[in-house]
Amino acid sequence: MNLKETIADAQKRKVAIGHFNVSNLEAVHAIKEAVQETGYPIIIGLSEGEGEFFGIRELACLVKEFKSQGLPIFANADHSYSVERAQAAIDAGFDAVIFDGAELSHEENIIKTKEVVEYARSKNPDCLVEAEIGFIGKSSSVLDKLPEGVATAEFLTKPEDAVKFAQATGIDLLAPAIGNLHGMLKDMPNPALDIERIQKISDDTGLPLVLHGGSGISESDFKKAIQSGIVIVHINTEIRVAFKDALMQSLADNPDQIAPYKYLKPAKDAVKKVIIEKLKLFNNA
Ligand SMILES: [Zn+2]
Repeated sequence: MNLKETIADAQKRKVAIGHFNVSNLEAVHAIKEAVQETGYPIIIGLSEGEGEFFGIRELACLVKEFKSQGLPIFANADHSYSVERAQAAIDAGFDAVIFDGAELSHEENIIKTKEVVEYARSKNPDCLVEAEIGFIGKSSSVLDKLPEGVATAEFLTKPEDAVKFAQATGIDLLAPAIGNLHGMLKDMPNPALDIERIQKISDDTGLPLVLHGGSGISESDFKKAIQSGIVIVHINTEIRVAFKDALMQSLADNPDQIAPYKYLKPAKDAVKKVIIEKLKLFNNA
């Protein structure tokens, strides 16, 4: 199944596909092993910064290889702030790209998103285009407080705006602002999701919805969100924390170890553990 078919299948079964960002090969291996162990599909995300470090074409090569092995692993260019960057990922053979024009004017966001949609259709009709409207902050890190404006009425996605935006651009996937935020709050839970708003946006647009900023969201909110139209959930901060904590512990436990494949293994395994837990939750297992 291609990504579009995988999403349609998830919608039908009321489950969600996990989207996990990577910066390094260890996280890619963690994802591959999680897919092999569970059989659930996964989307690998590369933000602009992660993509500069890892390489867009390099990830495309790996994902192509995984597909040839029969593994349901897909590549997504997470948060492309320029049309050119989205085009580069489409050219590389990505399964999906996100054009993030959330900080542009509404009109400019429509024009540029449409440009990306048209480019994708002309180069690779299988490549899905996601856009986001509303604002949920930008940092996948552990935060001391809510970013300004996030989860306030002004920045939440209005269903009527979502419909107009979807019709004007022809996007395949929509990431709404529904109380979620990028990153997770230190020492306190993230705000509750606006489940009614998710349902309304889903019903009115008819589009599969993507939940960004999945780190720090409660299990019950995930379940309700998935029942209400969320089909893809992004997790980044939690696997970054898991990788770093396990790596620091591994180095502290074995200060004389210099073989990367030995001191990095606990970090890879820690990432895999978080991923498998999330996959089970998103798949009602
Ligand atoms: Zn995001």
